[in-house]
Amino acid sequence: MNTPTTAQHTAGEAPAIILPDPESIFLTRAERFDALALHHGLGEWLAFLGRLSRAQDKALKAAEPDLAPPATETLELARKHRMPPVSVASFQRPIVWHDILRSIVGDLLENAPVGARETLDALLLTSAEELDKLAEKLLNGEPERADMDRLPYIAAAMQVVFTAVASKLDATALPRMEAHSTCPVCGSHPVVSVIRSEGPTAGLRYVHCTLCNTEWEVPHATCVTCGDREKVTLHEIDGDDGIARAESCGACESYMKLIVQGPNARVDPIADDLASVALDMLVDDAGFVRSGPNYLLIGAGE
Ligand SMILES: [Zn+2]
Ligand SMILES: [Zn+2]
Repeated sequence: MNTPTTAQHTAGEAPAIILPDPESIFLTRAERFDALALHHGLGEWLAFLGRLSRAQDKALKAAEPDLAPPATETLELARKHRMPPVSVASFQRPIVWHDILRSIVGDLLENAPVGARETLDALLLTSAEELDKLAEKLLNGEPERADMDRLPYIAAAMQVVFTAVASKLDATALPRMEAHSTCPVCGSHPVVSVIRSEGPTAGLRYVHCTLCNTEWEVPHATCVTCGDREKVTLHEIDGDDGIARAESCGACESYMKLIVQGPNARVDPIADDLASVALDMLVDDAGFVRSGPNYLLIGAGE
């Protein structure tokens, strides 16, 4: 878990918004994927995603100096109009993202499973123009079936870009969004929510952005999608470790998972979400539709 980076954060007071820590975010995720892969039916896939997270960490640290936050005027304007300042709809994607993608793909190719090798090779041959189009489709459009294999890697590179930029903002100067389901940095949806167990945020629930890894507080037992507090129900798998639960809403028929941080467990929102797909099946079967995407799962099942 990342630590709060708000400038004026005082002890005992929980921040409303927590920005990602670029030093540790992808490394912690990689370690969590490694641990989850050890005793899991999807172990090989989770181990591969651990390598992907490690490649993201390396790419972020190399590209970090080239990833600048928006200009002060843009930040001011966003604050005034309560808009996300690094919005996926308008933020000019820095050209260095092509290098980030190539670095991630190169690292994975060193020991890639047969199924992934073809896609990774294809990505190295994809023109810069086509890569930009794929990124646009991922973030703002309707991806096509033919794009699905390549999109998790495009998403991984975009996560690096938006996470690095988010980490350079001032959390105390960000606008609060009207909807619980809108990231106050990039405007994307949250992937899951996390019940934190340490420090001033202990016991509070934060939702975690699927793209930029920013977290923002949302009250317990409140539907993240529609705000309903009456028809919220918790689901979990009997005999499970209790880390992943799902909160469904009878008002809008959506659900979002809750990842519960134990006293010693180094859980990660993205990794623990993917390790608990059985819970998704349970809640899907009960008739609820998942509200937030996990970009590393995009295209699975196509
Ligand atoms: Zn975000
Ligand atoms: Zn709802």
